[in-house]
Amino acid sequence: MTADFRHFYQKTWAERTAIVAEQAQLTPAERALFKKYYLPEHHQIIENYLTDYPLPMGLAVNFVVDGQAKVVPMVTEEPSVIAAASNGAKIVKRAGGFKTTLNQREMIGQIVLEQLTAPAETAAVIEAHQAELLRVADAAHPSLKKRGGGARRIRTRVLGQGYLSVDLFVDVQAAMGANMLNTMLEAVAKSIGVLTKTDPLMSILSNFATASLVKAECAIPVALLQAGRYSGKLVAAKIAAASTVAQIDPYRATTHNKGIMNGIDAVAIATGNDWRALESGAHAYAAKDGHYRGMSSWTSDGQTLRGTLSIPLPVGIVGGSIKINELAQLNQRLLQVDQAGDLARIIAAVGLAQNLAALRALVTTGIQQGHMHLQLKSLALAAGATPAELPAVLQQLELAPQQDLATTQRLITALRQ
Ligand code: NDP
Repeated sequence: MTADFRHFYQKTWAERTAIVAEQAQLTPAERALFKKYYLPEHHQIIENYLTDYPLPMGLAVNFVVDGQAKVVPMVTEEPSVIAAASNGAKIVKRAGGFKTTLNQREMIGQIVLEQLTAPAETAAVIEAHQAELLRVADAAHPSLKKRGGGARRIRTRVLGQGYLSVDLFVDVQAAMGANMLNTMLEAVAKSIGVLTKTDPLMSILSNFATASLVKAECAIPVALLQAGRYSGKLVAAKIAAASTVAQIDPYRATTHNKGIMNGIDAVAIATGNDWRALESGAHAYAAKDGHYRGMSSWTSDGQTLRGTLSIPLPVGIVGGSIKINELAQLNQRLLQVDQAGDLARIIAAVGLAQNLAALRALVTTGIQQGHMHLQLKSLALAAGATPAELPAVLQQLELAPQQDLATTQRLITALRQ
């Protein structure tokens, strides 16, 4: 029989879980998982809520950012991410820590006009009414201005094919600001419609957050980079070479940047921030000159390895689901941040630490050696090893010619006999 999902959003939680259980023929044990992770208040966050989906949260250590020691909560399902961040941060700590720069923290929203026969003239009309339009924007969300934020300026861009983008720059204070900005944009779009006798196509913030850039930097004496048989000077040269490859080859750049985002997303999730917004903005910024490149760059003069990461990080410490997410609030306390910009600075440092650790491993021992122990642990658990069986399974797995699920299951079965 097919379960009935009509009006699912109107059903109670008990009704929803019963429908799903029927549809998927769930066992009582499977059905109990809905209850196990259920948090009633999360009905307020998403639609058609069933249960929560737990992810591990851990703490990266050793960070020094702008002279302040920091520990960094990270939420990730990937082994080695927290170890690598802590490892990269430890090296940089010995070199004096990360320095960050944040000149501006504004969000940009777009009102797109279409079917314009003279877009430059329409743009001129809009620019001439900038002060009035900024007042309309502020009036749509007055509390922001009271807090010291608000609409700052308007820019117009002729996109071609009859389209014009009117970009509104807003100081969103402690929030990420997506909803606040969207409210302001819709109000401004109405005024622009009247002013230009057009019907704006759409109004929405842009995740290409080029007015929320953060730069993290570090300068590491090469001696601190020595790894096994590799001298620090050689490691520094190889890291710089790896950085060059990420600048010229999109295949490498993508993986280089994935490693950076391993750290950035993990802190974004831990602090209740919209990691999809950060991801889209970061990758767009990595392709800002028309060629997708590594987000960080490393250079070595033989004495010092210098790393830098510039990235848009429109994060908030209020707004979105943060106010009803106790762990996001707890994690702000662990990070000891009371300004959104300070959170952005730490996140940029995490991205650079993550990148340093990954590159150092890649150009010396290879990534697998460090990863493998944790990966094997995940494999053993996935194959059904109990915590008590883990040490013995891992010992045998490390020696096994094949380290796959079938082999691991065979090892566990043998151990149990
Ligand atoms: P909210 O809509 O929650 O707005 C921010 C809230 O924080 C407001 O209620 C504001 O109060 C309150 N606030 C309290 N103190 C401050 C302060 N010091 N500075 C600023 N605000 C303060 O969140 P955002 O506007 O930040 O939007 C973020 C959410 O939007 C995220 O969940 C994101 O996923 C989502 N989103 C993202 C989009 C995208 O990325 N493309 C598109 C649409 C939504 P008050 O009302 O009194 O001003």
